Amino acid sequence: KYLMVNMGVMATITQSIDAETGVRVAEAFGRQVRRGREEDEGEGEDGEEELSVLTEGYGWEEEDAASLLPRAPVVTIMGHVDHGKTSLLDAVRESSVATGEAGGITQHIGAYQVTHADRTITFIDTPGHAAFSEMRARGANVTDLVVLVVAADEGVKEQTIDSIRCAKQAHVPILLAVNKVDKPGADPSRVTQELMKYDVLLEEYGGDVLSAEVSAKKRLNLDGLLEKILLQAEILDLKANPNRSAVGAVVESRMEKGLGPVTTVLVQKGTLRVGDCIVAGAAYGKVRSLTDERGKRLETAGPSVPAVLSGWDGVPAAGDTLIVVESEMQARNVAEARRRLERERSGSATMGSMQAQVLSIFGTDGVKQRQEVTVVIKADVQGSAEAIATAVSAIHVEDDRAEVGVKVLSSGVGDVTQNDVALAGVSQATILAFNVAADMNAQEEARKTGVEIEYHTVIYDILDKLEAKVQEILSPTP
Ligand code: GDP
Repeated sequence: KYLMVNMGVMATITQSIDAETGVRVAEAFGRQVRRGREEDEGEGEDGEEELSVLTEGYGWEEEDAASLLPRAPVVTIMGHVDHGKTSLLDAVRESSVATGEAGGITQHIGAYQVTHADRTITFIDTPGHAAFSEMRARGANVTDLVVLVVAADEGVKEQTIDSIRCAKQAHVPILLAVNKVDKPGADPSRVTQELMKYDVLLEEYGGDVLSAEVSAKKRLNLDGLLEKILLQAEILDLKANPNRSAVGAVVESRMEKGLGPVTTVLVQKGTLRVGDCIVAGAAYGKVRSLTDERGKRLETAGPSVPAVLSGWDGVPAAGDTLIVVESEMQARNVAEARRRLERERSGSATMGSMQAQVLSIFGTDGVKQRQEVTVVIKADVQGSAEAIATAVSAIHVEDDRAEVGVKVLSSGVGDVTQNDVALAGVSQATILAFNVAADMNAQEEARKTGVEIEYHTVIYDILDKLEAKVQEILSPTP
């Protein structure tokens, strides 16, 4: 993300970048960099330099290209309500159950895999852009491609547009599924025309968006859709290193009788094994069992594989990153440290600073005091960042003793980075993230320092919240 936003380089986690770029990114995140093969520099002029970025075990270090192997694409279905997202997910799943291995009742676990032409596709089972944005806001970018479902009889609607925006913002390619082609009023060509306005340009019009016309209800052309997904996956050249400790994303969590907290985890890299010591959010544990959606026991789960996992001491949240650590003790230490920080943040940190601000308003000299709420703004586009900065700067309340306003410490474009958090930390500012996420290092830094990151998708919500906050500082509710 840093690469894309700050340096204009398009790369996903699993792609290789050149050494220079790597060093700059690492340094931007305050990391040290050790170059491999320093001693024999000059020998291989055009030889690739091995780069090892010394991270702190979050699995974000650059992978050696030779260790990367192809993995299944992870697909999220989005689109307007009632356009057939759920029907399509069900139809695809059922058609694969019919042809694939029979037996066992399939459970809804939050993600499932189908096999088509000997290749596997992973579907995230919670359709819609809300879940997608929520996961992303927590740092989990699991989706490789978005299937945008548009009903052929209704065309582009509000949530269609939202979905397009979400996918574009996340730099995830869109594949169009024109659904309900069985209906009398179906007009697929109208759909493709309408989509042009939103910069979704199909192949046949010179764009790069693949599409399929389907009917989820009548099971028409589902194979065609799967083929297009596999084609898009091939273009994306998705790879991961299966031979390392696992890093994954929590897709769903629930309590289950006899097993305690149970989560569905989508492995992103490495291989998860029974017996691994794990941490996600403030929960930790040791993998007691791994099962697939049919309840079949698994010994291991590799990249792009969703697995139901038990063995937790607490309940991690959807979107939390799962990592594997060396020992149960280490897992517990990490989780406990995070819990402590959460307690501090929700307890003394917020209340304490609020009280301190209130106290400082009322000076003893009878002169009107001025108090400021400081914010750092990060937004998806420059226009939004500026609009928010202008709007929040105008917030101001006062009475005969004091006045309270909002101070914008900085405003910029792109995901929240560690630098933003550090900046906010120094001035006890709140970070307002508008249609952007916080990267992993930023989240970690925020946890450590207690800096609050607020995620918003509506400017009015930001204003409402800030207005309430300054009002509360001026005249606290008893
Ligand atoms: P979602 O809100 O996007 O998940 O939409 P649903 O999958 O719940 O579908 C909404 C309605 O459209 C349901 O009544 C479905 O039976 C119907 N539907 C879904 N796909 C098709 C289709 O291909 N053809 C027709 N005629 N109806 C469909």
